[in-house]
Amino acid sequence: MNLNVNQKKAIHYVSGPCLILAGAGSGKTQVIIKKIIYLISQCHLNPNSIFAITFTNKAAKEMRNRISDKLSHNITKMITISTFHSLGLRIVKSELNALNICSNFSIFDEQDQITVLKDITKKNDRTFLKKVRIMISNWKNKLINSYNAKIRAKSIIEKKYCRYYELYEIYLKSCNILDFDDLIFLPTLLLKNNELLREKWQNKIKYLLVDEYQDTNFIQYELIKLLSKSNKNFTLVGDDDQSIYSWRGARLNNFSLLKLDYPELKIIKLEHNYRSSGRILKAANFLIENNPHFLQKKLFSNLEYGPIINIIPARNEEEEAILVSKKILNHKLINSSNYRDYSVLYRSNYQVKVFEKVLINFKIPYYVVTRSSFFSRPEIRDLLAYLKLMLNSNDDIAFLKIINRPSRGIGEKTLKKIKSWSIYKKISLFDASNSNELKSFLSSRSFNALQNFIILIKELKENIFIKPIMVLDNLISTIKYESWLLKNLKNFKLYKISLNNMHSLLNWISELIQSNKNKSNTLSDIIYQFILHNELEEENPEDDKLQLMTLHASKGLEFPYVFMIGMEEGILPHYSSLNNIDEERRLTYVGITRAKKELFFSYSKIRCQYGEVIYTVPSRFLLELPKNDLLWKKNNVQKNNFLKKI
Ligand code: ATP
Ligand code: MG
Repeated sequence: MNLNVNQKKAIHYVSGPCLILAGAGSGKTQVIIKKIIYLISQCHLNPNSIFAITFTNKAAKEMRNRISDKLSHNITKMITISTFHSLGLRIVKSELNALNICSNFSIFDEQDQITVLKDITKKNDRTFLKKVRIMISNWKNKLINSYNAKIRAKSIIEKKYCRYYELYEIYLKSCNILDFDDLIFLPTLLLKNNELLREKWQNKIKYLLVDEYQDTNFIQYELIKLLSKSNKNFTLVGDDDQSIYSWRGARLNNFSLLKLDYPELKIIKLEHNYRSSGRILKAANFLIENNPHFLQKKLFSNLEYGPIINIIPARNEEEEAILVSKKILNHKLINSSNYRDYSVLYRSNYQVKVFEKVLINFKIPYYVVTRSSFFSRPEIRDLLAYLKLMLNSNDDIAFLKIINRPSRGIGEKTLKKIKSWSIYKKISLFDASNSNELKSFLSSRSFNALQNFIILIKELKENIFIKPIMVLDNLISTIKYESWLLKNLKNFKLYKISLNNMHSLLNWISELIQSNKNKSNTLSDIIYQFILHNELEEENPEDDKLQLMTLHASKGLEFPYVFMIGMEEGILPHYSSLNNIDEERRLTYVGITRAKKELFFSYSKIRCQYGEVIYTVPSRFLLELPKNDLLWKKNNVQKNNFLKKI
């Protein structure tokens, strides 16, 4: 690969803060990879002192693979390449004393948070509980603890939410539990307030690189500043046109702040797009011109102009899925391409359901990229809850999850008594169950069942230091989990799926241990990694499958042929984001710029939403594209005829 002048400049500039502001497909991620290699092989920086931050674990893995093509495996392993959350976890684990956290802490996911908030707020309404969860998350992402939130609160309602936050904080602290946001919140607060530790980490990190900078939020920017203050050696890479996470607190403002906080900031623009054909790029440029910009940049491509952009209309969602599937089959035949060369991108997860049905009928192999689907499967959550309870017996949520899985005849009444006792004694549910005083409140049958459970967990705990794979194996056989599943699941097919999932979990752990050979691989490490890697990848890159994913999930990826479906008002732009059209436009821009050779759009004239049939109009974004580069197809399919063909 011949690097262009600006790419070279970006790689060789190492003597101060550097922002690479560049368009889609201009080699930003490439530059980070090449810069890491340059820092090690030419500047002789210790690989241990190089830290790179990516947006997802998948991107981190990909980056590591690409670096190990050029540097030895051992050197690559020494470089830190992680997400903000994984880096935060690392800081937490090294600073337990300063943070006043015991080493066996648990990590809560969103589901666990909701369960606790249900208890705290005494409300059962999921929408409400989600709202409280998001408010707490927003506070933490602005570096505000419950005390400060309370001081700022004006209305009675706000004060009430602050009280929930306070109780939530107390609960987590008493159980030695952190939530996802804490993984960034606690280290940032610590480094801000503790000069010694701040210097320690600043000395450790000689060079910091951040990909997808446009999607950093307030606290992540603070952490970047704290980690790099003294040496100011960092390279941040981003594209203001691809900022699509404002709903998670991402702030475009972080670009302007950078200029203010670092007046010596070197800004390098990359405008040569190496990914997309000329026509696709022209469409992307036309669209994004309608947005305000932090810094003007214009992408150009030297690749061929490429075929016209087809817009496929459909009468309804099912027909849309059928027409797109047929197009893929035809196109694949004509171009002798593979399924893996195609991707179908959509705004919202629910859109994929209709497609899956049709793809199965057409026998098109496909893979849906989803977040946390594996993680949320019941058998995986059960096993994880066992492991969490073995690690931290104060984890009441894990306790409640598995107390009756497999069933042990411990009923609601008994659980209520355990809960009351734990509140009265200010101890965990596990300790409450373990106390002899409870005997007089329970029937001897319930008491014995409870004692057996406690003994089981204690025995499992004794083996916690053996190989994690064996811990899990031992757990599954000791609790006779498989035979319980066989008895309880509706049919044999579901049972087989569960077994497969458990198998995938074991495989995932062995792979993790294999790739972490020189690092610590205790059970707690595995559990933390598992919680953080909730986008567990099941697909094998060698598999020839069509990929389906949301526009958000497509960030940073590229495919020869891209189909953007559901190009309708209300879907893209989404009706819930009509107050933020710029961001919806950026999302469309992200989708368009994933395509290398050819781009297709489709829309449906009728769509079913929440049981209602809605007549739609094509997305305004289609109308913002260059007219002469689009071909609006006619829909000639006879009514109902398309249904007979599958
Ligand atoms: P995105 O904005 O989507 O994250 P990006 O700016 O990170 O994109 P990359 O993914 O790094 O871009 O690169 C896009 C494509 O261009 C990749 O296939 C990469 O290999 C290729 N590429 C980058 N630089 C060059 C170059 N100098 N010569 C040839 N190909 C290049
Ligand atoms: Mg990239």
